[in-house]
Amino acid sequence: MTFPANDPALRSWVPVPAGSDFPIQNIPFGIGSWNGEPPVPVTRIGDRVVDLSILAEAGLLDGLGIDREAFNAPHLNDLMRGGKSAVRALRQRLSELLQADTPTLRDNNDLREEALLAADQVVMHLPVTVGDYTDFYSSRQHAYNVGVMFRDPKNALLPNWLPLPVGYHGRASSIVPSGTPVHRPQGQTRPDPNAPPVFGPTKQLDFELEVAFITFDGKPLGQRISTAEAEDHIFGLVLFNDWSARDIQSWEYVPLGPFLAKNFASSISPWVVTLDALDPFRIPGPVQDPEVLPYLRTTGAHGFDIALEVAILPEGGAETTVCRSNFRHMYWSMAQQLAHHTVNGCNVRRGDMMASGTISGDTPDSYGSMLELTWRGTKPLTLADGTERKFIHDGDTVIMRGHCEKNGVRIGFGEVSGRVLPAIRS
Ligand code: CA
Repeated sequence: MTFPANDPALRSWVPVPAGSDFPIQNIPFGIGSWNGEPPVPVTRIGDRVVDLSILAEAGLLDGLGIDREAFNAPHLNDLMRGGKSAVRALRQRLSELLQADTPTLRDNNDLREEALLAADQVVMHLPVTVGDYTDFYSSRQHAYNVGVMFRDPKNALLPNWLPLPVGYHGRASSIVPSGTPVHRPQGQTRPDPNAPPVFGPTKQLDFELEVAFITFDGKPLGQRISTAEAEDHIFGLVLFNDWSARDIQSWEYVPLGPFLAKNFASSISPWVVTLDALDPFRIPGPVQDPEVLPYLRTTGAHGFDIALEVAILPEGGAETTVCRSNFRHMYWSMAQQLAHHTVNGCNVRRGDMMASGTISGDTPDSYGSMLELTWRGTKPLTLADGTERKFIHDGDTVIMRGHCEKNGVRIGFGEVSGRVLPAIRS
């Protein structure tokens, strides 16, 4: 399928700086506010945020199958009611309004000044109200590395890992937008396996480099979504930092999996980049051996070539990039994850979020967590300021970025950042 809005030849009357993540071929969606006004749906081009509520009020977004009121909501869930076809039509309409030779907005000074804002003056919020959050575990190298460290090098991948996309139900309430500080969690750990557990702030605070997809409405309870249908139910992607406390995790996770080690915060980038915008960057997934069961089989390219990186910014210091990975390292595609998630009749809803699991490549500098980068603290990293890190310190800001690039077009996510504050001891 070709999308006119993806044409690399398109240019906008809005200036787009070289290297921007937000050319006219992107048109992501988010929720923004400024001057203390209520948050509304917005898009982004270059260094400008475009207020969709103003465009809707002017009648420029009529006839797309999206109610005008949806453009005044403090989340994108209402706007997503019309599903993929409505959002695709909205993105196309916005593309047309922003194209260099379209005078509608370009030559209407009052409307243009009301609708376009400097990105640095806009506060970005969570793009959707997240109903349910699921976290997968779909990077083979990550699952292997964790298996080696936590269990047994000879049997690093558990027997179910190659036949099915392993996942667990996470917690939606603690998903926060980029820029939200995260307090170091406290909890129960057992540093000495021969002594009783102790309570206190985690000593092994970690990030997990992930990408999450956000769903449109799925099907009613009891029905399943096939791999062929799955991408029609996916709105778009965000960067996802699944903060983790490794010492809490290793003590609590048997037998039911992660609990308090993971649910204290997950940070996401504010711009939802649509699957349509990412379409030019599709790549075939890995060969899956053993062959998967029929309900997990796919045809076509369902992987995406998205360069990802993680940087640590110490208090008062400079950034050090500690990881360069890529979304192409996923063993299981999003289509397979969603088909598996619903194969038992589990329903998904508008605004549900499903994260990939930590995305680690096959070289040590591409590992997507400190757990792997420092091999559980045995090989500390040295930052640009000369200090060492086994895990994340108070005052550190963790920043993740992601973008695709091909045929002179760069489609990016911006960034997700979060600063770590000391534990609240009360
Ligand atoms: Ca995770």
